[in-house]
Amino acid sequence: MATPLLLHACCGPCSLEPVRLLREEGFDPVICWVNPNIQPVEEHDRRLQVLLDWAKNVAKVPVVTGECDRDAWERGPARFGSDRPQRCRACYALRLAETCRIARREGFAHVSTTLAVSPYQLFDTCSEVLDKLARANGLTPVIRDFRPYYPEATRLSRELKMYRQNYCGCRFSAAEAALERARARDARKAAKSK
Ligand code: SF4
Repeated sequence: MATPLLLHACCGPCSLEPVRLLREEGFDPVICWVNPNIQPVEEHDRRLQVLLDWAKNVAKVPVVTGECDRDAWERGPARFGSDRPQRCRACYALRLAETCRIARREGFAHVSTTLAVSPYQLFDTCSEVLDKLARANGLTPVIRDFRPYYPEATRLSRELKMYRQNYCGCRFSAAEAALERARARDARKAAKSK
């Protein structure tokens, strides 16, 4: 019999491969949505709806939603501002702590996160936070490096016509991603003019 696992999901596209791979490994994932970091609210709701549609119509995976405590996000991660390593560590901790709380409440023994599929996330930091929080809650962290499957997740989500955001979630990441895109554009222009 498959082992129940509560899988924190950051968005629909990032859930595709982790759900498939965890099922292949013998887990029975239930998705947990806890993402008070996503700004603005309309963007949060859009990503959640994309996830719910895919979970119901394609993956047939149940979804539970946790508390969306935007004030806690402002009091915690946001105070680190442009210090990305500290900000993301606090952001992972906030979301995964709530995931672990729900896992305990719902009787799960295993927890994981789809954050481990994106090469844009801080994998080591995220894994460390998940490991610590899970163990503190008496749960088993299921830490997998899903990053090699990111290109396939991208391909599949395009095929499914899923909305794909171009920033991680918070307002800081939106500004950082816009800056990165502008830099890349400038580099391409410079290369062409040589
Ligand atoms: S970049 Fe992503 S993980 Fe980091 S603080 Fe912002 S929303 Fe959270």
